[in-house]
Amino acid sequence: MGPWNDPLYDTTRDLILRTAQEIGIDPNIAGRLAVPDRAIVVSIPLRRDDGTVEVYTGYRVQHNDTRGPCKGGIRYHPHVNLGEVTALATLMTFKCAVVGVPLGGAKGGISIDPSGLSRAELQRLTRRYTTEIINFIGPGKDIPAPDMGTNPQVMAWIMDTFSQTHGYAMPGVVTGKPIELGGSQGRLQATGRGLVYTVVDAAKHLGLELKGATAAIQGMGNVGYWAARRLDYRGTKIVAASDVTGAVYNPKGINLKKAYVYMQENGGIAGFPGAEAMDPTELLTLDVDIVIPAALGGVIDAKVAKKLRCKILAEGANGPVTSDGDAVLRKRQDEIFVIPDLLANAGGVTVSYFEWVQGTQNFFWSATEVNKRLESIMVTAFKKILKVHVDENLDMRTAAMAVGMRRVSEAMLLRGLFP
Ligand code: GLU
Repeated sequence: MGPWNDPLYDTTRDLILRTAQEIGIDPNIAGRLAVPDRAIVVSIPLRRDDGTVEVYTGYRVQHNDTRGPCKGGIRYHPHVNLGEVTALATLMTFKCAVVGVPLGGAKGGISIDPSGLSRAELQRLTRRYTTEIINFIGPGKDIPAPDMGTNPQVMAWIMDTFSQTHGYAMPGVVTGKPIELGGSQGRLQATGRGLVYTVVDAAKHLGLELKGATAAIQGMGNVGYWAARRLDYRGTKIVAASDVTGAVYNPKGINLKKAYVYMQENGGIAGFPGAEAMDPTELLTLDVDIVIPAALGGVIDAKVAKKLRCKILAEGANGPVTSDGDAVLRKRQDEIFVIPDLLANAGGVTVSYFEWVQGTQNFFWSATEVNKRLESIMVTAFKKILKVHVDENLDMRTAAMAVGMRRVSEAMLLRGLFP
């Protein structure tokens, strides 16, 4: 639809309009929330190490700032396009509302494969992108963070470029920074850790013992890896794991610390000697208790959804289920308990919010304090969504969207329509 043409955008828009209809949100508000506040498209000329210049396209989309400054990650991936970034920015608005942090939704990205860049090229790309969007972002305006293909070092370069341009240090312009530059304890692990708090609550609700349960992880990046580590800590066996290089399987449980070292040395999980190779397309439909898609969006369509055999589907990725896949999951609610992305992966932005608060006060918390506050927010959000799921007979995804949409629409009505 319009300039936002993309499958993830269509899925997100469908979810907004369907939820609004089911819970009786004013159609004027729903129509407004189906499109972003504003979007910027920039061209980024990058001088490669060999002297040639290549031009890439970058984006920053601000979906809604009714509840506070915009917030959301920056993605470097070849799939990035205006529609996808818009969908991801939209999800951020509702994710912030679901966990009750006073922020709006944004997302940015560059359509590029960062794995082919040298460190110097990545730095030049990041600095030029920052310069192109510099009037758009700021500590009280819009605060980027890491997402797929970016990391704390990239945030450090954004912070430095922004600060150099303004003439003084402004660490509050980004979150997910290195701890040495004002990053928060626990931010790196926060998305995976937060996800596992929701899995713990879901397992309690279902009467499933996590000790001895089995899990499969699609995507051993920052989210998937830390979710796996926290589940492993609770006695769940991680029997399958994948990344872009391939997938591995070990019915006795994968040794995650060894897998981490192997991935660092070899650039991916494929060939990890502590497990057998498996077909990555079969990972999501394995007969395990918990499946965690923690890679790209749109991986669970109707075909995959029909074949899922897990008891809990915990969405580490943003938008892993298509609209058709979701229709199947709604019919299979009694077999598969879905922890939707808006809730499951909200731990990242929650600790980003803590980082922003700590930076604003120049007063930093211990890891124990950060994790305690994260747990409290995730548990409260889970309970609230579960209550809506049960009391209003809505599936978990619609229930999460209902909680988010009600909070955003109430704030919109209070502020009123300008002019
Ligand atoms: N990129 C992460 C997400 O999709 C984190 C965003 C943030 O911390 O601002 O939730």
